[in-house]
Amino acid sequence: MTDPQPIIVWFRQDLRLADNPALHYAAQSGRPVLPVFVLDDVTPGTWKAGGATRWWLHHSLTHLSASLRARGAPLLLLRGPGDAVIGDLAEKMGAAEVVWNRCYEPFAIERDSRLKAVLKGRVKASSFNAALLNEPWEVLTGQGTPYKVFTPYWRTALSVTAPDQPLPAPGRLTPCRTQPDGDALSDWTLLPTRPDWAAGFRRTWADGQGVGEAAAAARLTHFLAHGAVTYAAGRDVPGIDGTSRLSPHLHFGEISPRQVWHAARVAGAAGGDGLKTQLDSFLRELGWREFCHSLLYHFPTLPERPLSPSFESFPWVNDDKALAAWQRGQTGYPIVDAGMRHLWATGWMHNRVRMIVGSLLVKHLLLPWQAGEDWFWDTLVDADLANNAAGWQWIGGCGADAAPYFRVFNPVLQGQKFDPDGRYVRHWVPELKHMPDKYVHAPWTAPPMVLRGAGITLGRDYPAPIIDHALGRQRALDAFATIRGGDPVQPA
Ligand SMILES: Cc1cc2nc3c(=O)[nH]c(=O)nc-3n(C[C@H](O)[C@H](O)[C@H](O)COP(=O)(O)OP(=O)(O)OC[C@H]3O[C@@H](n4cnc5c(N)ncnc54)[C@H](O)[C@@H]3O)c2cc1C
Repeated sequence: MTDPQPIIVWFRQDLRLADNPALHYAAQSGRPVLPVFVLDDVTPGTWKAGGATRWWLHHSLTHLSASLRARGAPLLLLRGPGDAVIGDLAEKMGAAEVVWNRCYEPFAIERDSRLKAVLKGRVKASSFNAALLNEPWEVLTGQGTPYKVFTPYWRTALSVTAPDQPLPAPGRLTPCRTQPDGDALSDWTLLPTRPDWAAGFRRTWADGQGVGEAAAAARLTHFLAHGAVTYAAGRDVPGIDGTSRLSPHLHFGEISPRQVWHAARVAGAAGGDGLKTQLDSFLRELGWREFCHSLLYHFPTLPERPLSPSFESFPWVNDDKALAAWQRGQTGYPIVDAGMRHLWATGWMHNRVRMIVGSLLVKHLLLPWQAGEDWFWDTLVDADLANNAAGWQWIGGCGADAAPYFRVFNPVLQGQKFDPDGRYVRHWVPELKHMPDKYVHAPWTAPPMVLRGAGITLGRDYPAPIIDHALGRQRALDAFATIRGGDPVQPA
């Protein structure tokens, strides 16, 4: 007897069962379901997963595999260019359909178009929206052009139809009678071996148990009960657990923005006006995520080239020594060093601190924003092409929205304002553990006796500032003066 024709579900950045439209559609079809994940380490021109992302992916796939196996349809792991691999698989399996949830990276759009072209006329192909509240082409100005400023973007987004209710996870899936051979997850060596730099990751993310769909749901519940209550003010304080930390879960699609949206709405309705206001502020951040994806969709060169063309001729400097000091958290600015060490140890950094470290890199040090973007890409567990590129262009003052280049953060004042008791700095820069609050964000201003009392000799136990703030600020402004003007880039 021949096998009934299966339906292939190609998992990508939607590593969950609930509110997964492609999987839901496949389950409803009544056909045997063949879930697949493809690791593409070979196609040129794609942004390959960085080290931190690979660590997360390993654990996320472990959880997804277990969930799918429990539903009766094990996950097939394959390697190679996604379009070619899925095309061949569809042929070999005599698939009736191939389904997936859409990605918005330019290379992913091209890859999926190639696959659709290959399958056309032979195998039905359907794609769904699982990653965004609104498709990028649904939120446009009155002239039909993409927004380049967040506030009007979000106002329009909120007036487009309300996000659909999340879909339930499917029950039992009909498996394929013959399961093709695939890789074992361990074949992919996504986890570091020598050197094993992931001890801090394991501690932070509960040995991998903090990754995956169930962990994402638990994190959302925890946030709605705790951080949400003081979110509007608490979201800027890195020393407290004031934000959701959902970013890696959202990036990998372990939870959907629709699930977050509706859960926040329900919690807001139950919690009264105070909580509702806090949650509106939280949902606005989810709006930034949407906006970044819209920017990447409409301006596909976002990760590589400044949105504002005048920045093409910005006199960036090449300074490997300064870049290495920044990467290692040895700039002599405690809030910057705390952030960079936090990132290296755990794969995550607080948004306020991302802005402060970014500003020091592109303004005081005049290093190109792409150098920061690359480092974040390799070290963040939530590395996301849209959010990362838009974040760095925003920091660089060369992207969308009002973050002018001439606004240069003072890292000392930022530290004093958002980490007033130095809790965050002391945790991640333990050399400064005994510095009094007054000097913890600017140890070089402390009298020698205070330094001695704290056990610090500057330049030996902790570096002097890599550049004087006033000097760095002036240098940045002088560099900016050379490129003022220029026309905005046109959308694709
Ligand atoms: C230079 C720079 C680089 C960044 N790179 C990334 C990245 O690679 N991946 C990433 O997910 N975020 C990135 N961000 C955005 C932001 O810092 C993180 O999303 C946020 O810190 C995640 O923490 P959270 O989940 O606790 O956020 P919450 O405050 O709880 O916000 C909820 C969700 O909204 C989204 N969000 C929040 N702030 C932003 C923002 N400014 N832009 C876009 N989405 C946002 C995230 O998905 C986040 O999980 C970057 C920001 C900067 C300044």
